[in-house]
Amino acid sequence: MQYYSTNQKAPFATLEKAVVKGLAEDKGLYMPERINVLPKEFFDNIQDMTFQDIAYNVAAAFFAEDVDEDALQHIVYETLNFDCPVVNVNDNIYSLELFHGPTLAFKDVGARFMARLLQYFIRMENTTEEVNVLVATSGDTGSAVANGFLGVEGIHVYVLYPKGKVSPIQECQFTTLGQNITAIEVDGVFDDCQALVKQAFMDAELNAKMKLTSANSINVARFLPQAFYYFNAYAQLKRIGKADNLVVCTPSGNFGNICAGLFAKKMGLPVKRFIAANNANDVFYEFLQTGEYNPRPSIQTIANAMDVGDPSNFARIFDLYGKSHEAICSDISGATYTDAQIADTIKEVYRNTNYLCDPHGACGYRALKEGLNADEVGVFLETAHPAKFKDTVEGIIGSEVAIPDKLAAFMQGEKKSVPLSKDFADFKTYLMNL
Ligand SMILES: *Cc1c(COP(=O)(O)O)cnc(C)c1O
Repeated sequence: MQYYSTNQKAPFATLEKAVVKGLAEDKGLYMPERINVLPKEFFDNIQDMTFQDIAYNVAAAFFAEDVDEDALQHIVYETLNFDCPVVNVNDNIYSLELFHGPTLAFKDVGARFMARLLQYFIRMENTTEEVNVLVATSGDTGSAVANGFLGVEGIHVYVLYPKGKVSPIQECQFTTLGQNITAIEVDGVFDDCQALVKQAFMDAELNAKMKLTSANSINVARFLPQAFYYFNAYAQLKRIGKADNLVVCTPSGNFGNICAGLFAKKMGLPVKRFIAANNANDVFYEFLQTGEYNPRPSIQTIANAMDVGDPSNFARIFDLYGKSHEAICSDISGATYTDAQIADTIKEVYRNTNYLCDPHGACGYRALKEGLNADEVGVFLETAHPAKFKDTVEGIIGSEVAIPDKLAAFMQGEKKSVPLSKDFADFKTYLMNL
């Protein structure tokens, strides 16, 4: 299958090129040239299938032409060695828990899949040269990518993060791993980290010495696998007779997660409609109301993984719906919540149902609570475990949030990182002397 750029000014790319390069030459996002609709039998039997088998069928619809069948099956099965259960919160509202992976957030799925697909292409090339993944992080992406690539042979990951600007829980998730993961503590802010990575990709001398690639969230190999769990949520709801008139609500920042759900719908998944739940960063919400897309700097909120003022996957959604505002509005509605509303929701839901939402999932729950019709069933994506936002959530509910064993294990590890200045010369010298 070929991949085109949303900017339409770059040549078509193979899957391999799209995965290795991430972004097209014209700075557009890669899109598959076709979206294959899954057969009726698949949907008739989906309630009897395992998550891994469901995901394999979805993966094959995109990747079967370009990845050997056994290898693809292996990649999918290794990626999904954890569950994404659907849990009833109250009435007709369900939580799709995407936090049972290694870093307790949904980005684990895409990061793990991408690591294995990249490794597959490296092996096809039959070289022994190591590939170096550079990733800048303000917290969550670094942990998902580092853990996704942990122990994957032939690939070394360098995580650049701003010194003193990520939470201790986040920091330990990528500084304690060792093996093929190196954490680089930059004396600067997130933008400095991102600038260092961008400069490295453009430096001729560096690229001649070593193979560099990125694990950015816009990569098709990180983005498309997120469709897997939408199908699995449907299967679980169908099993209990709750799959009709299904409304899916995705807490959204860069809009990659919801975009994967929209792809799932195009593949035939019977979702009646989607809701994109935002925090105070409501550029997309505004677009839905007005048809105007006005990106602006992000505002800091307690649901900080959604603090995005110019969602990168907007280009994909716009393209998917033929650049029609009307078509987009027929499938997606929006919601936007202040920090106070998010906090109220966490408190209320916990008090009334004993279910503890994280700040992102709380936006999703609230949008369903306010927007679901009586004949509809709603499922929101609980995108991270509440313990990842321990201080915020404890401050809201006034009691302690237990840390899951997986997270506690990271915190016991020894922190190791390479301190560097924000000057590119230092970073380059470090890489050249590896
Ligand atoms: C990344 C993230 C989001 C936003 O997902 P997008 O795909 O960027 O819309 C929401 N919640 C959590 C916990 C995240 O880490």
